[in-house]
Parts: sequence; structure tokens; C-alpha cells
Amino acid sequence: MRRPDGTRETVEAAWVIGADGARSVVRESLGLSLEGETYDDGFFLADVDMEWDKGHEDLYLDLTNDGFLAFFPMQGEGRFRVIGSLTQSLKAKHDRREDVGLEDIRPIVEEESGVGARLTGSRWVTTYRIHRRMANSFREGRVFLAGDAAHIHSPAGGQGMNTGIADGYNLAWKLAAVVKGDAKPRLLDSYEAERLPVARRVLAVTDRLFSLEVTDNPLLKRFRTVLMPGLLNLTERSRAVGGLLFGIISQVRVNYRGSPVVADGGGFGRKAPRPGDRAPYGLLEDGTSLYDLLRRPGHHLLLFEGTRGGTGHGTAQKEVSARLDRYGLPVEIHRIPTGEQKLHEAYGARRPSAFLIRPDGYVAYRGPRSDAFRLERYLDGLFVRGDADLPATAATKRESAPVAGPARR
Ligand SMILES: Cc1cc2nc3c(=O)[nH]c(=O)nc-3n(C[C@H](O)[C@H](O)[C@H](O)COP(=O)(O)OP(=O)(O)OC[C@H]3O[C@@H](n4cnc5c(N)ncnc54)[C@H](O)[C@@H]3O)c2cc1C
Repeated sequence: MRRPDGTRETVEAAWVIGADGARSVVRESLGLSLEGETYDDGFFLADVDMEWDKGHEDLYLDLTNDGFLAFFPMQGEGRFRVIGSLTQSLKAKHDRREDVGLEDIRPIVEEESGVGARLTGSRWVTTYRIHRRMANSFREGRVFLAGDAAHIHSPAGGQGMNTGIADGYNLAWKLAAVVKGDAKPRLLDSYEAERLPVARRVLAVTDRLFSLEVTDNPLLKRFRTVLMPGLLNLTERSRAVGGLLFGIISQVRVNYRGSPVVADGGGFGRKAPRPGDRAPYGLLEDGTSLYDLLRRPGHHLLLFEGTRGGTGHGTAQKEVSARLDRYGLPVEIHRIPTGEQKLHEAYGARRPSAFLIRPDGYVAYRGPRSDAFRLERYLDGLFVRGDADLPATAATKRESAPVAGPARR
């Protein structure tokens, strides 16, 4: 490592995460390639002061025959970030980016677009090219890649930063568990297995969106300029369309159903969340969010008592807790009494059931509460047993009170 003052230091580390951006030195040092392509079209990006009559609250998208202009309101009256397609004259200037200034984008914003904006100043203006590339592997031995070091794509849909953060969220708890000796190293194999397909999908979706934004195809141009504005406006008026778009852009629909480190103990209907799904949001009867219960880092075991009645409440919490105590893994247990109807519904838990939620908020395991053995078998595959005779410490096992009132027994 070279420090800012020029001094050098050698660091020995058992594990490395290359989160060093698109030009990742870590990736290059590993000899991993960033496969894909660079788009022909270029863009400008500018932080400007401007006047217009459209207000300062909303994102404004201007879809034109020649491409698009996007106006993002920034803090401060009249301040916007503007992104738009490069014109021929700006394309010619792309290699001398430092010379690009307000006057270069003025004709595009003020005259060609017809949005009725007047630029009064700028903090910076630049041009950039867009790529659609990803590393052929996210891991080489003890070195991992995350974020732009692993995948880069068009900013259409604003997915880059979120995808990178989710990489980190996926990897961090796994690496911590392995480093602490709580998990078997094979848990780390699931990082690439889970995240590489997500990056591939993000690349495909942003590629489609981007291609639509810049296409020269007359039919698609018509779609962009005539139909797309109507569709986008629908997101505000229609809950269904808005919800669909929200699901894609917020990435809450990402799932790891095919992952090698999630397991299904069976016994659920079609609507119940599956192993590898993001733990569904749900409200407790007192109005608080389930996510507040899951906030503490570590695994969480939700023990539902079921809504059917008459079948008993499954394995007692104490017994489940005793079984979990055999592992070093921190797990917080939450008993969900029958009276918590909304939560039972959200999890399709008609019978007494168990859902193990991972630290990154995904369902690791689901199964009938009566079958603690299956849960144990799942844990044995991935996690390390400590000394079974040792009592659990408060630091490793926490049992929360039932989420609402005493359980009906
Ligand atoms: C115009 C544009 C608009 C975007 N809009 C959105 C959006 O709306 N939503 C969204 O989610 N994403 C957006 N993105 C993408 C987002 O900016 C990136 O995906 C995100 O910043 C990547 O984060 P990262 O930490 O992986 O890499 P980076 O942000 O590139 O960080 C890497 C860091 O590593 C450091 N580094 C690199 N090499 C070394 C080295 N050898 N030694 C020490 N340090 C090093 C760098 O200095 C840098 O600080 C946009 C991108 C662009 C270009």
C-alpha cells in the first residue's frame, strides 16, 4: 500500500475485498477480465442553476427524437443535475472533456429540448461513456470483488450503487461468520452464486432501458416519444404500475431462490415466501414493523404458532433454543403468537412454522416448527458447532419476548 505521503506499507491479510471501482487494481491483479462492451453513445452530466416554470419537486424526463434529457432536482432553489445525450459537436469534444462547459450544453437544453429552461450558471459540466461489462468471476481464492469492480452498466434506472451495496451486504456477514469460526468456508461460495446472476440481470435490464433511451429505430423512437411518457406518468396514477416499477428499481424483488445455502423444510402453500426470498415486510397487530424486530445484526428465527389451531404449537421454543445453542452463530428467536394475524398471513404460516432469516434479510430456511431436526441439519451443513455442553451466552443467543401479548395456549 502507498500512503498519501508516499510512504509504503506491506499488509498481510487473510481475505481481501476489491471494492475499488470500475478500474479495479485488485481485479486486474487477479487477471480477471471485465467482459462486455462500451456503448457508442456518450452523455453529458452537469450541475446547473436554471429557471423554468416546472417547479423544483420532481424528476423531469424529456424524451426526444434524438435521445433524452433528465433533470434531477438538487438541494437549493433552481439547482438541477442534468443528464443528456451528446450531440455531434459535443461528441467531437469528448476527448477534451476539460474544455466542455455551460455554453456547450446550452443549445441542447434551451433550444433543442423545448422544455423551456434557461441556464443561469453551472458548477461543473462533463461528458462520459457508458459500459456494459462484468467480471467473469467475483472471487479468486481469498479475494472477492464487489460493486463497480465486479459490474458496470448504464445509469438508466439508477441501479449501480444499490447493486454494489447489496454485494457488500451479501458478503459481509458471510465473511464475518467464517473469520469468527462460526461458519464453514463453503458459505463463502454462495457469494458469487447469489450475486453474479443478480448483476447479470441488472446489466440486461439497464441495457434494455438504455437502448430504448437512445435508439435510432423509427418504431422504437415512436415508442420512446409517444408511449413512454404516458407509461411513466401512469406510475404515479396506477398503484399496480407504480408497484411494479418500484419492485424493479428498489431491487426488493431480488431473490436467491436457486442459492446453494438456502433450504426448504416444506409444508407451505404457494403464496408463502420461499427460501432465498427477501423476508416479507409485515406489520404487528400493534402497528410496529417486523423489520424493527429484525434490526439487530445476526440471524433471526421466527417461530410462528400457526393460525389453524388444534395441531399444537410445534416444538417448544426452549427446545429450538437449546438446539441453536450448539452453534456459535448469533441467532435471535422471536415467538409469533397466533394473534399476530397479519404476520401469519404475510408468511403463509397456517401451521406452526419456523423461518430462519439471514443477517442480510433473506429467508435462509423455512420448515414446520415440529421438525427442529431439519433445521438442525440445515445448520450443520453451513455452520460450526461449538461445545454443546456450554450454556449459551447472552451475546450469542437472544430470546425476545413474544411480539405481542402472551401466546394463546
Ligand atoms: C452518471 C452516473 C449516474 C449514476 N447514477 C446512479 C444512481 O442514480 N443510482 C445508483 O445506484 N447508481 C448510480 N450510478 C452508479 C454508481 O455511482 C456506482 O455504481 C457506485 O458509485 C459504485 O460504487 P463502488 O464503491 O463500487 O465504486 P466507486 O464509487 O468507484 O468507489 C471506488 C473507490 O475505490 C477507490 N480506489 C480505486 N482504486 C484504488 C486504489 N488503487 N487504491 C485506493 N483506493 C482506490 C476510489 O478512489 C473510490 O473511492 C451512477 C453512475 C454514473 C456514472
